[in-house]
Amino acid sequence: MAHFPSSFLDEVLSRTDIVELIAHHVQLKKSGNNFMGLCPFHHEKSPSFSVSADKQLFYCFGCGKGGGAFQFLMDHDGYSFPEVVEYLAEKAGLTVPQSAAPDADEQAKRKRALDLLDRVTEAFAKVLVAEEGLAGRDYFHRRKLPDDLIRKYRLGFAPPGYGFLARSMGRDERVLAQLEAVGLLFKGERGYADRFRGRVIFPIRDRRGQVVGFGGRILDQGEPKYLNSPETPFFHKSDLLYGFSEHRDEIRKRKLLLVVEGYMDVLALAAHDLPVGLAPLGTAIGERQVREILRLNDAPVFCFDGDRAGKQASWRALERMLPVLDAEHGPRFLYLPEGEDPDSLLQREGGAAFIQRIENEAKPVLKTWIDGLLNLAGRGPEGRARMAKKADAMLATMKDDYLRQAWRLEAENVTKLHLKDAVKPRKATPRRGIGGIAPDAKLREDFVAALVQNPARVQALPAGAEQFFLDDDGLNQLYTRVLHISADDKHPIQTLINAFPEDERIPRWATQAETTDDEFCGLLLAIEQENIKRRLRQGDLSTEEITRLKRREIEINRQRRG
Ligand SMILES: [Zn+2]
Repeated sequence: MAHFPSSFLDEVLSRTDIVELIAHHVQLKKSGNNFMGLCPFHHEKSPSFSVSADKQLFYCFGCGKGGGAFQFLMDHDGYSFPEVVEYLAEKAGLTVPQSAAPDADEQAKRKRALDLLDRVTEAFAKVLVAEEGLAGRDYFHRRKLPDDLIRKYRLGFAPPGYGFLARSMGRDERVLAQLEAVGLLFKGERGYADRFRGRVIFPIRDRRGQVVGFGGRILDQGEPKYLNSPETPFFHKSDLLYGFSEHRDEIRKRKLLLVVEGYMDVLALAAHDLPVGLAPLGTAIGERQVREILRLNDAPVFCFDGDRAGKQASWRALERMLPVLDAEHGPRFLYLPEGEDPDSLLQREGGAAFIQRIENEAKPVLKTWIDGLLNLAGRGPEGRARMAKKADAMLATMKDDYLRQAWRLEAENVTKLHLKDAVKPRKATPRRGIGGIAPDAKLREDFVAALVQNPARVQALPAGAEQFFLDDDGLNQLYTRVLHISADDKHPIQTLINAFPEDERIPRWATQAETTDDEFCGLLLAIEQENIKRRLRQGDLSTEEITRLKRREIEINRQRRG
């Protein structure tokens, strides 16, 4: 991972307005010092998602998600940390420092390649509306795609025969080599040859909306029916979903996500006012894609053809889903009538009927699982045994303990057999969280929270405070980090969030009502007292040390009473 100097991260943040950034995705209303809106990370009817312009933080009181601008883009759009930094730096007109980008050459190469892909996209799109593209236009019009949609998705046409790219991109040897590197040309016996010929073209964009590859469907008879760009450094089929960057916001807004099998299904949905479809790129759906889908929507509907191949594909998707699934998710599976796909059904029945069909026929994932097991195992005692065995193996891949137990019970009901308890032994760590917090733990949390809210308070800590022990490892680490925040750090909270991106407490503390100085003094004394007791219990102290600690304890008691 690229290492960015903290001064650079500060600079990026100081030029980024989190309110403006989030307002692109969430409708925000001013409320006191903050802005409020409907949380994009969980379903809700009344706003509990707050954004603070002063602190440049967001926090949801409903689901506990929170953080700064970096965190928002990572959670909301699935960017990696370096991607977020690069993206926001670029928006702010900053150049990523050389030290952070040791492969400046790589970067430049990547940019050239993406520019080239964009120009090729343009060239394919131009052909589609020219005389040469009549066959492609016919195809899309037969499939009832309106022209504005064709433009929006930048659909194109690769004419039959060789030489189109050389003609439109120039015969410069370097350009040709680049076209080969991005998978658009390959070296044949007579020099470079076009990969896509006589095909309608579906540009495939990454999360940032940049075209990184293409899918092409043949028009005449021929094989393969669908052809994709080969894997390149920025085109990884198993990471991408067709429609993702185009539909992300609409999926969140409508709280509806339909996973379909092909490009044309995604587009047919969009043409019927359902711009909420995503499709894998001609391959079976993988775990990373499932993760992405569930991050975007917790109750996606997976649509499959009703034939044997569709059943197999759905079973594979279900298997990929198990390691990711938790009790918050409610994916459903819809099998279409045999011989139909979403495109054909939409043409015949329209969008409203399609949604109605989902409401009536989509099965919850658990039901899909049980039905699938019954199908695979067959009848009789042997069938039940086979089913139990298969269920066991699949349950073992589930990450959510409680969900696994619930599913296991369901499978036992059907098989009438005892399944193995696949629950992994848990470490006996005390549970954190607002609900079951013990009084002492609450004290320690409040103490660290007060420091996070105002790291300057570190100066007020007594000697030896760096040895305070806060029991819970996470809290201890956080505390140690707070102690080491430099006095001239302009964004101490952001520094902490960067150091502990997973810790949802930091943004919560930073946005909740600030601890007063009086309260902080009380917390500090209580923590110190607790630590003295702990030290005294430990033994191995000199008589002098014991006397000192006891004296301090008496002092503290006096202060706390007074
Ligand atoms: Zn939320």
